[in-house]
Amino acid sequence: MSKLIIISGPSGVGKGTIIELLKKRYLKENKKLYLSISCTTRSPREGEIDGVHYYFISEDEFLERIKRNDFLEYNKYGTGKYYGTPKSTVMDYLKQDYDVILEIDINGYKRIKKECPNCIGIFIMPPNEEELYQRLKNRGTEDEKTIQIRLATAQSELKQKDIYDYLVVNYDGKVEKSSEEVYNIINKS
Ligand code: 5GP
Repeated sequence: MSKLIIISGPSGVGKGTIIELLKKRYLKENKKLYLSISCTTRSPREGEIDGVHYYFISEDEFLERIKRNDFLEYNKYGTGKYYGTPKSTVMDYLKQDYDVILEIDINGYKRIKKECPNCIGIFIMPPNEEELYQRLKNRGTEDEKTIQIRLATAQSELKQKDIYDYLVVNYDGKVEKSSEEVYNIINKS
């Protein structure tokens, strides 16, 4: 049976790399995995491609799509930007026996867990806060104010981490191990 997996964790914690490695592992094992592509009203970061990393849409279009009930869940993030999971695509992949990953924030997780208690919630943690700040700074894609908002959001998310089914710490330089841990969690669930 296909599995719905929610992966959350503070910005800059390494979720993207963990998921990329997970995709490779699924491919190697000849298993089907779909990573949901969210819609967002934030601007693309350098190197981000529309339709690959996100669907970058205007706020007007986002609000229109809320009205049409197009989202499985959506949230207005601390930065004031909207993020939402397109409902029909996720449902289609699940029906076709794909495991589906949603990389969403804690509010999205709470909404989905209520509707689908069987989903697997995994929270990726940084080894410590200082490390997270350095990772965000090193990414160099955001100004200091945005970094501070993201850090404040991270602190609030970290306080609520126990609502997740599993916690995985992504130690510096150990992302392969973290991804392997996530794969094993999904496999046994
Ligand atoms: P970022 O701007 O760093 O790509 O994402 C900011 C936050 O929004 C991250 O915690 C990310 O997981 C979350 N996010 C991305 N897509 C969605 C979505 O569709 N729904 C919700 N609720 N959060 C999302």
